[in-house]
This record gives sequence, C-alpha cells and structure tokens, in this order.
Amino acid sequence: MIFFETPYEMPPYRPPSEAESVLFRVTRGCHWNRCTFCGMYRTEKFSIRTPEEVIADIKKAAGMFGELPRTIFLGDSDVLIMKTKDLCRILESIYKEFSQVMRVTAYTRGKTLYRKKEEELRELHGAGLTRLHVGLESGDPEILSHIKKGLTQEEMVIGGRKAIESGFQLSLYVILGIGGEERWRQHALNTAQVLNQVAPHFVRLRTYIMQQGTPLAEEVERGEFTLASCLTVLYETRLLLQNLNIPTMFLSDHISNYLPLNGKLPEDKERLIAQLDSAIAQLESNPHLVEEYSHRGYLSL
Ligand code: SF4
Repeated sequence: MIFFETPYEMPPYRPPSEAESVLFRVTRGCHWNRCTFCGMYRTEKFSIRTPEEVIADIKKAAGMFGELPRTIFLGDSDVLIMKTKDLCRILESIYKEFSQVMRVTAYTRGKTLYRKKEEELRELHGAGLTRLHVGLESGDPEILSHIKKGLTQEEMVIGGRKAIESGFQLSLYVILGIGGEERWRQHALNTAQVLNQVAPHFVRLRTYIMQQGTPLAEEVERGEFTLASCLTVLYETRLLLQNLNIPTMFLSDHISNYLPLNGKLPEDKERLIAQLDSAIAQLESNPHLVEEYSHRGYLSL
C-alpha cells in the first residue's frame, strides 16, 4: 500500500463503489481483528475517535471541497460500534457542511447490527446514514467458524433484516473460494440461503486471495487448506447465483474476481449464468488455463 500525507485523517480502505466519495475516519482499525483471512488492520490498534476530532476533519474537508460532495464514506471497519448519539453528531455536521450530500455510507459488522437496538438503527438512518457495507463472507456455519467470523447465520439474518427494516440500503459481501476446494458446494448453497433470507439491496463478490501473515494463508502454506481453483470458483458462483431467489444487484465490483458478473436479479440471472457457462466450458476444454489463471500468490495491500 502507498501511504501519502493527507490533510486530515482518512480511512485506509473503502469499497470500490465509494471511489468518488469524501472519506472520514470514525474508528481506527477493527476491534474484532480475528477473521483468519483478513490482514487489513492486523497491525492497527483499535480506537474510536471522538466526535470532536471527526467534526474538525469534516470542517477541514468542507474548506477543501466546498459544498460539492454528494457521497460520503465513513471508516474504518465497524463504524456503528460508536455510540449512537456520537455518530448522530457526526452525521449532523456532515449535512451542515455539505448541503448537496445524497448518500452517507459506512462499514459495519453483522454482529454489531445484530446487537444494536432497532430504535438506534432508525435514529442513525433518520440522521442521514443511508447505506451499510457488511462482510457476510459465507452463510455456511462450518466456514464461518473456520474463518473466525464471530457471527452465525442466524445473527446475520436478524441483523441484516433489522438494518433493512430501519431504512438502510444494505450491501453484503461474499468471498468466493473461502471454503477452499473442499467446501465450495456448502459455501454456495448456505450463502444463497442466508442472502435469500436477508434480501440485501446489493450482493458484492470478492475472490479469496491470500494475505501475508494471516492465519488462513499459514494454513495454505502448511497444506491444511487447499485454495479453490478458478474453475471451482466459477462452479461455486454458478451454484450461488442459481439458488438466489431475491431481487438484488449482483455485482463483482472487485479486481480479485475472475469474471465481471454484474446485473440486476432476477432480470439478468440467465445472462449471468450464460456468461459463467461460457467461461466454465472454456476452462474445462483447456485444463492448462485453470492452473495459469488461479490465484496462487499473495495479495499486496
Ligand atoms: S474482515 Fe472485517 S471484521 Fe473481520 S478482521 Fe477484517 S476488518 Fe475485522
């Protein structure tokens, strides 16, 4: 990762869909920091910034961008862990400084949604937080426990539904290949089942790539976890898609993915399945390409 001087403190990561957004850092790092595949905040000590610190940053950004910004993103990993009244103060300052804002988005955890009272979620939505990005990763209990997600299927369903019923747009992230070669079927089927119950507005796909120094990468190195090949990932994606029966945006808006599969369900389902079938047929008839295309190296952050 390239570090550069910024005029105020910004989150080191944001979703690709927030590329145009003004970024503010509300929390630093991740208080969970145990997911075995994730190296994002391993060396960062978790803290919650004070509303005064964040509001000072908002004022600095207003001096730089004027009233122009239309979308704002709040990081780091679990912004809703902040006290609701403090986050509402930050939201109030955002809307005061940026009169044209249409969307304010944050990363949060499924477990935090599960624990947060519905009245508080409604209060946050009422204060102008509009969209939440949450890592489901998998809906399979065995995989969730293996990757130490700290979340059960039931908690994700309850937390996700509560967020939607409180008015939020919800993006759930799925990691393709997170069950490895062995568990791709159960990953696809159980993830589809959770997604069908939550019915998020967006399903966003990422493909697992090892991150140096993480427990899951070490399992791969010890031969205890077999990375899914690109062909397995495509079979898995097809099975997941086939079993989704909700209206949602199905997006592979990330560089880690093998195919640019983007569409609206259910309208685009057949087109997306045809796209997958064509790629699967090519790989099945050219087995040498499977080895060539499969992710085997480390992700450089
Ligand atoms: S995936 Fe999210 S919750 Fe898990 S350790 Fe990484 S930042 Fe924290």
